Amino acid sequence: MNPSKLTLPVLLATLLWGADGAPARAQAAPQLDSIRLLLDLSVLAHDSMAGRATGSPGAQRTRAFLATALEEANIRPAYPRMGYPFRWARGMGENIVGIIPGRGTADDLVVVLTAHYDHLGLRDGQVFNGADDNASGVAALLEIGRQLASAPLDHTTILAFVDAEEVGFQGSRAFVDDPPVPFDRIALNVNLDMVARTDGVLWAGGAYHTPALRPILEALAAEAPLTLKLGHDRWGAPEGDDWTNSSDHAPFHEVGVPYVYFGVEDHADYHEPSDDFERVDLGEFTASVRTILMGIRVLDRALPLPGRAGR
Ligand SMILES: [Zn+2]
Repeated sequence: MNPSKLTLPVLLATLLWGADGAPARAQAAPQLDSIRLLLDLSVLAHDSMAGRATGSPGAQRTRAFLATALEEANIRPAYPRMGYPFRWARGMGENIVGIIPGRGTADDLVVVLTAHYDHLGLRDGQVFNGADDNASGVAALLEIGRQLASAPLDHTTILAFVDAEEVGFQGSRAFVDDPPVPFDRIALNVNLDMVARTDGVLWAGGAYHTPALRPILEALAAEAPLTLKLGHDRWGAPEGDDWTNSSDHAPFHEVGVPYVYFGVEDHADYHEPSDDFERVDLGEFTASVRTILMGIRVLDRALPLPGRAGR
């Protein structure tokens, strides 16, 4: 499917055939509501969200949208309220955090899924909509949350929509500093940041630091409806090639929590006002989210991982 505006014909085609062009019922990958996914992406990346800059009215509107969507999916707040405000060097930020109880295991481990909702806002009169960065990860996490609410993982799952990533991972740091469950229960972080513009290739990072992840992710790659590559996590790689400290998984990694980071290569619209909804290939995005949901389910079954510091 070509990058295209979300027109009625596109919606109908997606509804009838699935966004990857195959009959929806023939999908081996898990079901998800691709229409809802794409509509959420179009809302988050809309000009009225004004680029979702930390501390801005657009960020407030984004939080209201996310909190309402979680409530509608019967997902409860992980803290006393859905919003978790925090102070950082240049002001306030606020994470939106929900929790889905697991179906139960011998252990009491928790999987933390993260996606940052903030982006660059308005600059010189231009809106930086950040459709790929990171409306894509937020829409993906929202739809994955709905799927997990109706068919939970074995382990309890936290959905953390974090603020202030673009100014140094402040929201994920605030989460790690004051998690809603005892820190020792956090077994794994799965972080989604820029998951739409795959051009056919999605990356999964983290196995270099936690080798037990490698066979799990390789098995996922064999089943995935796109090319899933492992890497971008190796210390000493050329500048820009090691993404270990590039997004919200970094604060988890720093304190010894294994992570899996799903994301795409930088592209020409990265951190440009042209990172718009219209440039997202709807089929690529849907295939990416299906892969990530499959990954979360296989990772859940593999816990606990050897190598979690402190356990
Ligand atoms: Zn980002």
